[in-house]
Amino acid sequence: MPQNEFLPINLLSEDAIEYLPCGLLILNDTRNIVLLNKELEELLGYSREELLGQTYKILLPDRLKNTPTIFDAQFEQDAASASRSHIITGRRKDGTELSLEIRLNKLNSNAGPFLLCSISDISDRRRIEHQLRVAIEAAPSGILMIDDSGAIQLVNRETERLFGYTRDELLGQSVEMLVPREYRDVHSAHRTEYAKNPAARLMGEGRDLFGLRKDGMEIPIEIGLNPVETIEGRFILCAIADISARKKAEQALHDAAEELKRSNRQLEQFAYIASHDLQEPLRVISGFMDLLSEKYKTQLDEKAGTYISYVVDAAKRMSQLITDLLKYSRVERGDREVQPVDLNKCAQIAEANLQASTQEAGAIITCDTLPKVQGNEMQLVQLFQNLLGNAIKFRRKEIPPQIHIGCHSDNSFWFLSVQDNGIGIAPEHHRRIFLIFQRLHGKKEYPGTGIGLALCEKIVEQHGGRIWVQSDVGKGSTFHFTLPK
Ligand code: ADP
Repeated sequence: MPQNEFLPINLLSEDAIEYLPCGLLILNDTRNIVLLNKELEELLGYSREELLGQTYKILLPDRLKNTPTIFDAQFEQDAASASRSHIITGRRKDGTELSLEIRLNKLNSNAGPFLLCSISDISDRRRIEHQLRVAIEAAPSGILMIDDSGAIQLVNRETERLFGYTRDELLGQSVEMLVPREYRDVHSAHRTEYAKNPAARLMGEGRDLFGLRKDGMEIPIEIGLNPVETIEGRFILCAIADISARKKAEQALHDAAEELKRSNRQLEQFAYIASHDLQEPLRVISGFMDLLSEKYKTQLDEKAGTYISYVVDAAKRMSQLITDLLKYSRVERGDREVQPVDLNKCAQIAEANLQASTQEAGAIITCDTLPKVQGNEMQLVQLFQNLLGNAIKFRRKEIPPQIHIGCHSDNSFWFLSVQDNGIGIAPEHHRRIFLIFQRLHGKKEYPGTGIGLALCEKIVEQHGGRIWVQSDVGKGSTFHFTLPK
């Protein structure tokens, strides 16, 4: 760099200026360029010789050359002073325009006042900011940007739609206009607090937030906060999601669940009362049928005997149904007493209760070591008994039932299973079989009431677990259930 006799600041090393990572120029009091560095040459595409001695307006597009500029304004200052950064549109030698961030320092020296200008090309940053603005505008959530005082500086289309205001009605206003009146003071205090230590986070986590629309309606919203540093300072970017639809769906789900619980309770109450009250007349029917067939055996013909046996069979079936129904409704109604229960003992009692059918079928039952759980012993015996009973009942004719009770665990649950080598269940029935009265076979083929698995599900759920089946038709089934540790 040639030594320049106008150089006002002898203290600055010429090399340091030359290789500064930003453009630098110095204007004398006639606002002509008296010094510049390499970076500025590259920035504007002029050679040093072309720039030296020119007015600074060579940096500007023609249309801006005749208006007063911040260079002039800074020159007018009497005292030595530094400006904040400004963004101006500049022009290269080839006529293309670029965004320049400039800082100006007014200096006074013996040779007169000078202006030291540092100049950076921020076109890339501007372009990115522009792209960001386009993306923000098209974003499916409401986005608004506020400054440290809470004044709205940027809004997108979705914010306009969400709150029913036009952009012009929002820009420059306090963000509290979008907050329901009763929360405004708190909001403003929170905002001030947030501004002291801003970080990306959800606003009011765990609380329900509401926005106030222009028409006075309050809408449930979720807000993400993000501090953003820009060349114009720090702002808070708020991303606002309208969660009205989600809230409505949650409410509908909650209402439906409540309604379901209520009607379930009613149904159980009904099942309990009905089965309880039905038992008595049924006993009378069975009793008198027995009497009829005993006492009048000789007077009745063969057909009457057959009919009586049908009635007796039906009464027995009905009695079984009522007993099962009562068990089912009792699980929900009472027996809530919970104590430590040894599942080994439950499985043993269940096996003992099934001894006759086990022997008849030639079934072999093996069992892992089972844990102790908190629960109701009677219900857990019933659970094993139903699953083992089914495993014996739904056996294949050609091989004896081989049944295994398995157990493993993770941190929170015991995973238990009852595996058999029976007839199996087609996949389309894997859910259905847990519904009450759902059976896949006729009474003649396999007797039963279709309540057993519904009862198992109820018992498992009552204990805080889940039950499901895995099965291959013709190979066997495994009923899995979990119990909390
Ligand atoms: P029930 O045994 O009285 O028919 P459940 O509710 O216990 O009623 O079972 C419902 C249906 O699920 C049974 O009718 C049967 O079709 C099927 N099922 C249950 N357990 C097994 C099993 N271990 N193997 C094959 N099918 C089974």
